[in-house]
Amino acid sequence: MRIVLLGAPGSGKGTQSQLLVKTYGVPQISTGDLLREAVAAGTELGLRAKAAMDAGKLVDDDTVLGMIRERLGHADAAKGFILDGFPRNLAQADALGRMLHEIGRPLEAVVLLNLDLGILFKRLTGRRICQDCGQVFNVFTSPPDTALHLEKYGHLPRLIQRPDDQEEVIGKRLEVYDAQTKPLISYYTDAGLLRVVDADAGMDTVFKSIQQAVDS
Ligand code: AMP
Repeated sequence: MRIVLLGAPGSGKGTQSQLLVKTYGVPQISTGDLLREAVAAGTELGLRAKAAMDAGKLVDDDTVLGMIRERLGHADAAKGFILDGFPRNLAQADALGRMLHEIGRPLEAVVLLNLDLGILFKRLTGRRICQDCGQVFNVFTSPPDTALHLEKYGHLPRLIQRPDDQEEVIGKRLEVYDAQTKPLISYYTDAGLLRVVDADAGMDTVFKSIQQAVDS
């Protein structure tokens, strides 16, 4: 499986990627996660990326492409990958196409998680992450069950909000998606790779639709 999950922030790319990882045994490559790790580790790359991330803007293409090239070179990516949050603009999509062509492993599909803007806004403002285990919740639609969490993970949920999920930054992130990432929909339609999935359904229903889209 070599796919891109395309969709606005909050469309469920991270959650669905994790389900795909479990089912298909290929790694999720999330540029957002890689960048957050670099910020947390205080690396030079992380320091460079932090200002753009906190402002809801895109990190520069060279930085992101370098990270992707390096990650695709890891042994686990040889059997396939799920790209989550990458590419985010046309230049990145072109560069990805060239990179995969060079190694003879082109994309098989690009799955668009399609969702209404109003729903996205609610998903993002309500999103909370357990800082101990990384489980993602939503205070409006899927708050954590404290007892169940303790039983399953051995600790109480300690919820934090990503700095870029704060309301004022979300507007900017959605604007960036509209201006820079949305053009990828026609780019991948023209390439015959795009599959559209309705992402306004329960997690399992969306997952089944993705499986159908990928298998078709
Ligand atoms: P995400 O977790 O995918 O929503 O990404 C969080 C933030 O990381 C974004 O708002 C950007 O600042 C940055 N980022 C993630 N992926 C990319 C990318 N492919 N290109 C540029 N910036 C990115």
